[in-house]
Amino acid sequence: MSILKVSRMGHPVLRKKVRPVPPAEITAASIQRLIDDMAQTMLEYNGVGLAAPQVHEELRVFVAQVIRDREDEEEDEARRPEILALINPEIKPASRHVEEDWEGCLSIPDLRGLVPRYRDISVKAYDRTGRPIEMQASGFMARVIQHETDHLDGVLFVDRMTSLDSLSFMEEFAKYHAKREHE
Ligand SMILES: [Zn+2]
Repeated sequence: MSILKVSRMGHPVLRKKVRPVPPAEITAASIQRLIDDMAQTMLEYNGVGLAAPQVHEELRVFVAQVIRDREDEEEDEARRPEILALINPEIKPASRHVEEDWEGCLSIPDLRGLVPRYRDISVKAYDRTGRPIEMQASGFMARVIQHETDHLDGVLFVDRMTSLDSLSFMEEFAKYHAKREHE
C-alpha cells in the first residue's frame, strides 16, 4: 500500500465532475489498490473521509471512517477504524432536517467552517466487492458521506457554507469554536 499525494484547493482536479466506475471493473486490481491506498492515505493524514479526486483519480470512489454514535465512542477507541468504501454513490435526503456543523477537508488544510447538511440520508452505491448496496446514515456519518459525494461533483465544503463568517484557521478554531467539534 502507498500513501498518495493529496490535491489541494486550486488544483483543477477538485473542480471536475468525475466519471463512474463501470461496476464490472470494481473488483479489478487497479481499483482495489486505489481503495487500499486511499484508506491508508486518509488514516495517515487523520482524515475521516477521502474522495478519489483528492488523490488525482477522476473516478466516483470515496473512503470514509465509520463513525458511531457518541454513546459508542469509548468502545470504539480500542478498535481499529472500520472503513467504508463506496463506489458510484447516489444520495437522497431521508428527512428535511438540516443541521449546521464544523467541517474540514484534507484538500483545504488548516481551515474549518460551519456547513449545513441533511441530517438523514439514504445512499445507493456499490461496495468494494462490486455489490450494489443501499444504506441509511444520520448525523456525522451522513455529513461525511455528503461531503465526500460532493467531491465527486467538484464541490468543496466552502461552496456549501451559507456565510463565510465561521471560516477559521485551526488555531483560532481550537481557541474560539472547538466546543462544537465532533472529536
Ligand atoms: Zn474534503
